[in-house]
Amino acid sequence: MGVHLQPFSTTIFNEMSQLAVRTGSINLGQGFPDVDGPPEVAEAAVAAIQGGQNQYPPGPGLPVLRQAVAEHQLRNYGLVHDPDTEVVITMGATEGIAGAVFGLCEPGDEVVVMEPYYDSYAATIAMAGAQRRVVTLRAPDYALDPEELAAAVTPRTRLILLNSPHNPTGRVLSREELEAVARICVERDILAVTDEVYEHLVYDGRPHIPLATLPGMAERTVTISSHGKTFSFTGWKVGWACGPADLIAAVRTAKMYLSYSGATPFQHAAAVALGLPSSYYEELAAGLAERRDILSQGLRDAGLTTFASEGTYFVTTDAASVGAIDGVEFCLGLPERVGVVAVPMSVFYDDPDAGRTLIRFAFCKRPEILAEAAARLKALRPT
Ligand code: PMP
Ligand code: GLN
Repeated sequence: MGVHLQPFSTTIFNEMSQLAVRTGSINLGQGFPDVDGPPEVAEAAVAAIQGGQNQYPPGPGLPVLRQAVAEHQLRNYGLVHDPDTEVVITMGATEGIAGAVFGLCEPGDEVVVMEPYYDSYAATIAMAGAQRRVVTLRAPDYALDPEELAAAVTPRTRLILLNSPHNPTGRVLSREELEAVARICVERDILAVTDEVYEHLVYDGRPHIPLATLPGMAERTVTISSHGKTFSFTGWKVGWACGPADLIAAVRTAKMYLSYSGATPFQHAAAVALGLPSSYYEELAAGLAERRDILSQGLRDAGLTTFASEGTYFVTTDAASVGAIDGVEFCLGLPERVGVVAVPMSVFYDDPDAGRTLIRFAFCKRPEILAEAAARLKALRPT
């Protein structure tokens, strides 16, 4: 294996899901729902397969889906995109991120990411021959410090890869924080790539604000999202990137040689999903907020220091309060101790010490499963 890829040969999500299967534990590690999304969306995929929609779609994606994505951006955020030149369909957000980084960065360029960071960012930046520079979000509030952000930017910075709602912290960046990012991008002539896969998983009436809606940003931002979390079909891997035509041309070109195209029937079904009424999105967020509350209370009852989750599938804790010294060791031992799997966050930091005892739990599971997990976790409580 090439030296540049050696640090990435396993993913914590795979490792922890395998551990859950092996030990028969409740899997609150990898973020995927335990109930499928709307039946009419599944039926649309089946109908597409049975209706002969089984050959390659156009490389940039089915026109009907690009149109649906453009309408979604307009309806939700007032962002206007030409579906022919300013939208590309990708194999999940993962390929959108890779396409953006590969398409926009030269070897040696720097990419600023917030840490803890989603694992594909580090691997993708390494594959591009670029360098990552991190800005740390710190518990308990995981705020983005504009001074730290400015300090991470150098003359070699090509882009800021921003993720809000943020995995793993559950943080939703405020308008003020986004304004600080926009200011630096404009002043220093830097591009932005935003990962907004949790855009509809935002709770307590907080808004999700795409960076592209801030002044000066539409012309320098690639906005990435996907169908997986919003419609609870994480295994379908339908994603998209939107932005100005010149930036999207770069993403499209990279995408052309990563996968050429995506899966035709799922693109048909994703177009149907994006047409669901606003009540769908409201119920999704309300249901997840309830689950967040069940799990957060359970974690607190177990004696874990638990931080507020404003969005995503995740709530984070500091397990030092139940005696943990190292999060990886703690998570490896958790199935045997209590029959629950979680994800250690130290693997998402350049300096693992920054998140040594932080642990992420996923709440995208049925309430009865979360209640059972909470009951089991009580055994951790120091006496
Ligand atoms: N970005 C973040 C922050 C994620 O949590 C995920 C979820 N796995 C992805 C990207 C990948 O999304 P997709 O499955 O659409 O590739
Ligand atoms: N996004 C999911 C998570 O953070 C995992 C996706 C994956 O396994 N790569 O849990």
